[in-house]
Amino acid sequence: MLIDSHCHVNFEGLREDYSDIAQRMHTNRVHRALCVSVNLPDWPAMMSMVEHEPTLYGSVGVHPDYEEEVEPTVEDLVSRSQHPKVVAIGETGLDYFRIKGDLTWQRDRFRTHIRAARETGLPLIIHTREAREDTIRILQEENAAEVGGVMHCFTESLEMARASIEMGFYISFSGIVTFKNAKDLQETARQLPLERILIETDSPYLAPVPHRGKRNDPSLVAHVAEKIAELKEVSFDQVAKQTTDNFYNLFNKIKDIPKAS
Ligand SMILES: [Zn+2]
Ligand SMILES: [Zn+2]
Repeated sequence: MLIDSHCHVNFEGLREDYSDIAQRMHTNRVHRALCVSVNLPDWPAMMSMVEHEPTLYGSVGVHPDYEEEVEPTVEDLVSRSQHPKVVAIGETGLDYFRIKGDLTWQRDRFRTHIRAARETGLPLIIHTREAREDTIRILQEENAAEVGGVMHCFTESLEMARASIEMGFYISFSGIVTFKNAKDLQETARQLPLERILIETDSPYLAPVPHRGKRNDPSLVAHVAEKIAELKEVSFDQVAKQTTDNFYNLFNKIKDIPKAS
C-alpha cells in the first residue's frame, strides 16, 4: 500500500477527473492521499471533496506564495481544524525563491500556523524554498518540535534535512527525486533513514519520470517509491510499508476518524 502525502487534487483539472484518478490509484496500490490546503477561500470546497472521497484526507492553511490572501488567525485555523478529516496544519512556511521583497508578512503567517499547530496538537506541513536559516530558526523559536511535521517536496540540503529530523520532522520527496539532474537530492535521500521519509506527488505539478512534463496525479507516487527503493537499495515493498507507517505515525489524528467518513 502507498500513500501520497501531499497533493492538490481539488485544483481545476484534477477535481473533475477524480473518479478516473481514484481508479488509477487503486491499480497502482495508492490507497490514500492527503489533499493540502493553500488558501482559505477555496477551503470549504476542498473539504467537501475530502468529505465525499474515502481515499482523501485534508489540512488547513495558507500557502506562503499566496500574497493577496486575507491573513489567517490562530483562532480561525484552530476552529477549521476541528473538522474530523483535517489531519494537519499547512501548507505553510517560507519561500524566498518565488516571492521577493519585504517578507515580514510571510514569516508572521508562518508563526501563526505554528501556533495553531501547537494549540491543536496537529503536525505541520512545511513548504520551504531558499529560506533554510529562517525556516529552521522560526521553527525553533516557536517550539515546533512539540508537534513535528513534514518538510514537503524537499529540495534543500542534507544538513537542513538533518536539522529538521532533529526537531521531529519527516522529509517528503516528490517526483523531483526521479529527475536526471537531481543528483544532490538523490544523494540526500540515500543518506536519510527510511524511517523519516515520506513520498508525495504535489500534483498537479512535478510529474515523476517517465511522466515528466505531463499532468501529475496521486497514482504516480508509485514512481517516487520506486526511485527511493533504488536509491536506498531496498525493495519496493519495504519503501511502501515504511512510508505508509511513517504517514500514519505523523498524521495520527487519522486513527480517530470514523470508518464511514
Ligand atoms: Zn508546497
Ligand atoms: Zn503543495
